[in-house]
Amino acid sequence: MSSSHPTNLADRYAFLQSELARLEHAYYVLDNPLVPDSEYDRLYRELLDIELAHPQWITADSLSQRVGGAALKAFDSVTHVMPMLSLNNAFEDAELIAFDRRCREGLHLNQVEYAGELKFDGLAISLRYEHGSLVRAATRGDGASGEDVTANIKTIRAIPLKLTGANIPAVLEVRGEVFMYLEDFQKMNALAAQAGEKEFANPRNAAAGSLRQLDSKITAKRPLSFFAYGLGALEPTSWLPTTHEALLNVYVQLGLPVCSERRVLHSVEAILSFYNEIGSKREALPYDIDGVVYKVNSFTEQAKLGFVSRAPRFALAHKFPAQEALTTVLGIDVQV
Ligand code: NAD
Repeated sequence: MSSSHPTNLADRYAFLQSELARLEHAYYVLDNPLVPDSEYDRLYRELLDIELAHPQWITADSLSQRVGGAALKAFDSVTHVMPMLSLNNAFEDAELIAFDRRCREGLHLNQVEYAGELKFDGLAISLRYEHGSLVRAATRGDGASGEDVTANIKTIRAIPLKLTGANIPAVLEVRGEVFMYLEDFQKMNALAAQAGEKEFANPRNAAAGSLRQLDSKITAKRPLSFFAYGLGALEPTSWLPTTHEALLNVYVQLGLPVCSERRVLHSVEAILSFYNEIGSKREALPYDIDGVVYKVNSFTEQAKLGFVSRAPRFALAHKFPAQEALTTVLGIDVQV
């Protein structure tokens, strides 16, 4: 498509906005995706490219400025004290190199330390602990407010109802991912097939669909799990360790599940070798991931870099090629 046909491009832009809105509603609200992620990602990229060429077309309600989907009205709404954002994505090494350059330039440093971890393909959740007790759990929703799924979250055995240890802050919002182990997913789908019930398309949709049940007795029967990887509200703020990696180590002491596949990385070369190493292990992992995530390790440096509208500037998701994408070989569609 050429920018010498502005009317057509404007039409295409309007089409992408409405088409992506339709796909997002099916994915985030109904837990029932209409197309593979790679197809959604391709259309989303096209939208971003058009906006890059025509920034004057961007409005506050463009999908590029928003996070996720709306909350289901059936659940009570929870306003996030700290918004739950998305992540900027990189598909090419060059985008990762540009991310490192922006971080170094923004911080006036020759070298930035990153925390590398897995990008779990599940559903983001915020767990609010007050004086060590789990009092509320909320989905990301549109980032500003989500769904109150406390009763359902309490059925997940991996999530402690009480934190352990001596140094527990008055308020701690633990952010992380609810997901399903592949083995559990396969068993659950086999049982559903036997009972003549609907099977889930993949573990991500199974996790999201199971958590967003109105009857927590149904959620209790679903094999959900959880990894912690982030932080929301905190009181007192003086409790905060200096780095992301140190925070995750404290989480382990508090009794929270944290994935052990993580590493502190000091250079672009180290980042790329982490990406390649995890990529080669991906098939053998017991859960689905769709990439790795790099976060500037120091919280002071994270605060200096700040946020753009829907994502932090201090973090990047480096995606793996889609497993579900359809590739045409000799005119035949094959799953890769
Ligand atoms: P995202 O999934 O690309 O990134 C943000 C999310 O990553 C967070 O909300 C969190 O849930 C998750 N995450 C996993 N591991 C993490 C970690 N270690 N640290 C921090 N966050 C971590 O962003 P998004 O805005 O939720 O959605 C985009 C994704 O959803 C794309 O992959 C897209 O393909 C898919 N999607 C697909 C469809 C479809 O129709 N198939 C529609 C909408 C979105």
